[in-house]
Amino acid sequence: MAIDNKTIATLGEFGLIERLFSPSEAPAGVPLGIGDDAAVLAVPRSHQMVVTTDSLVEGIHFLPDADPFLLAQKAVRVNLSDLAAMGAIPRWYLLSLSLPASTPLAWAEEFSRGLREAEADYHIALVGGDTTGSKGSIVIAITLVGSLPEGRAITRSGARPGDLLMVTGTVGDAAIGLAQEVGRLPVLAGDDLFYFKRRLQLPEPRLALGRMFQERVLARAAIDISDGLVADLGHLCLASGVGVEVDVEAIPLSQPARHLLEARGSECLNRLLTGGEDYELLLAIPEGMEGVAREVAAACETPLTRIGRFNPHAPEVKLLSHGGPITVGKPGWNHFA
Ligand code: ADP
Ligand code: MG
Repeated sequence: MAIDNKTIATLGEFGLIERLFSPSEAPAGVPLGIGDDAAVLAVPRSHQMVVTTDSLVEGIHFLPDADPFLLAQKAVRVNLSDLAAMGAIPRWYLLSLSLPASTPLAWAEEFSRGLREAEADYHIALVGGDTTGSKGSIVIAITLVGSLPEGRAITRSGARPGDLLMVTGTVGDAAIGLAQEVGRLPVLAGDDLFYFKRRLQLPEPRLALGRMFQERVLARAAIDISDGLVADLGHLCLASGVGVEVDVEAIPLSQPARHLLEARGSECLNRLLTGGEDYELLLAIPEGMEGVAREVAAACETPLTRIGRFNPHAPEVKLLSHGGPITVGKPGWNHFA
């Protein structure tokens, strides 16, 4: 088989944009998309725009040999997760891509295919961006734009004492995937290994649940878990001015994570509670709404588990295991610490 060793330099900046990043047809709600100095977007009447941005940096967020098809999808999905936490409807996104000239064209093509996949999965359209060279790492920066009916955002600051703390999905799988990837766990075999890696590579933004909870006014506050359960819960407590007690035994773990916890005990528990990149939602639910919240979650096919309760004390995350307090080391990820 002949090895295709073309790089992106064979297309050049404009060729790359034209060939890989321009949609074949004009997307909905975009009077002017890629190709002019800026895009013009039509925000639905009585909606407000909701905007977020997140970057993936080679060497910090992904290894040089990461699969570009999955990487593109992850770059979009981590942004979608932020809009899910706000209860917003995602619509458009911008992509700023910095690539070394030596990047294989095949890499860029696979990356582009990953974007198309995410666009189809989540009904969003690429409306602009920036393409630059890089002397070092690949940097992928995405800005996602969505909308919400006026004044209806679910924020971090609305939790009240007595509200229930609930979480979607399972916690800690991505952290195990990462530990495995960087060689900090003995190599796992087969299906479990694949499961943890996939959870790290393709997080599931909880858009349906976020939007339904916004529409039905079921959550007083929400945050997505990007830095770790303990750290992100701490952010929500601080913003809301409430404390929280978490029942560690109630935290939902996947079957593979349970196996690992049984085999490796507390060292692993620490990782599950503080590891980032789950992109599940933590929600403050008024006690009287628990039943409806469970019904709506079931209708969105999203697992939802009650794991604690907010209280009027200082903004602090208290972890209780078998009734007694436990502590974790570093609560979560911090870039410059
Ligand atoms: P300018 O120099 O005026 O900022 P550019 O030459 O950088 O414009 O970009 C030309 C057009 O291509 C713009 O509409 C821009 O949004 C779009 N674009 C550039 N890079 C990307 C990219 N990676 N993905 C999507 N659109 C892009
Ligand atoms: Mg310009």
